Amino acid sequence: MMIESASIILKKMSHAAMRAGRCPSEIKLIAVTKTVSTEAVKEAVNAGLRIFGENRVQEAQKKISDLRFEISNSRIEWHLIGHLQKNKAKYAVQLFDLIHTVDSIDLAEELNRQAGKAGKIQRILIQVKLSEEETKHGVPEKELIPLLEKINDLRNLKLEGLMTMPPYFEDAEKARPYFKRLREIRDEADKKGYRLPELSMGMSGDFEVAIEEGATMVRIGTAIFGERK
Ligand SMILES: *Cc1c(COP(=O)(O)O)cnc(C)c1O
Repeated sequence: MMIESASIILKKMSHAAMRAGRCPSEIKLIAVTKTVSTEAVKEAVNAGLRIFGENRVQEAQKKISDLRFEISNSRIEWHLIGHLQKNKAKYAVQLFDLIHTVDSIDLAEELNRQAGKAGKIQRILIQVKLSEEETKHGVPEKELIPLLEKINDLRNLKLEGLMTMPPYFEDAEKARPYFKRLREIRDEADKKGYRLPELSMGMSGDFEVAIEEGATMVRIGTAIFGERK
């Protein structure tokens, strides 16, 4: 079941890329495993998926250590896609290959400090807030360039791109302007000398639109693993 849905997603990703004149291999599938059992994650690994996204440090900690024994030889990446509190930065650095949700200089500095202690270069993305929703995390658009300037000085961080999460819409087309805007913001930053190749955008309901607008990472849970409990 799950294997079948993953291969359908990969096909849809390829088609969306080709519609946009892009190469399908530019786009990575992040399988979102929050609330998903370790058994189902193992199945996903066996089906060939290699990048997994979790939104809570604590849940990820347990899952990653449970799985470490079983899939030690596979090259698996774990990504943090949910909001990160500063006091959990230390654990996030231990657990995650890429943190998608950096949204303040305070958090960036703490991650830099913890990465230094761990002897690691921590890969990060900056989460950008493009809507006025109170509940959404992320740095407002106008504060992005100042944040980029500051992060530039943090030697233990490797900033690879931007992430966003539009408001939920029934109709995926309504999310398109947000994806387009994130790409434009990235292109503007590029002109100022900040290279941000990765765009993490698009979920189960709207990943094809996100890919048409330039996503390089799509974060997909429900469409692979089924509805969350
Ligand atoms: C849960 C989650 C996803 C995946 O959502 P689906 O609709 O299940 O694909 C993607 N991104 C973030 C930040 C999430 O929290």
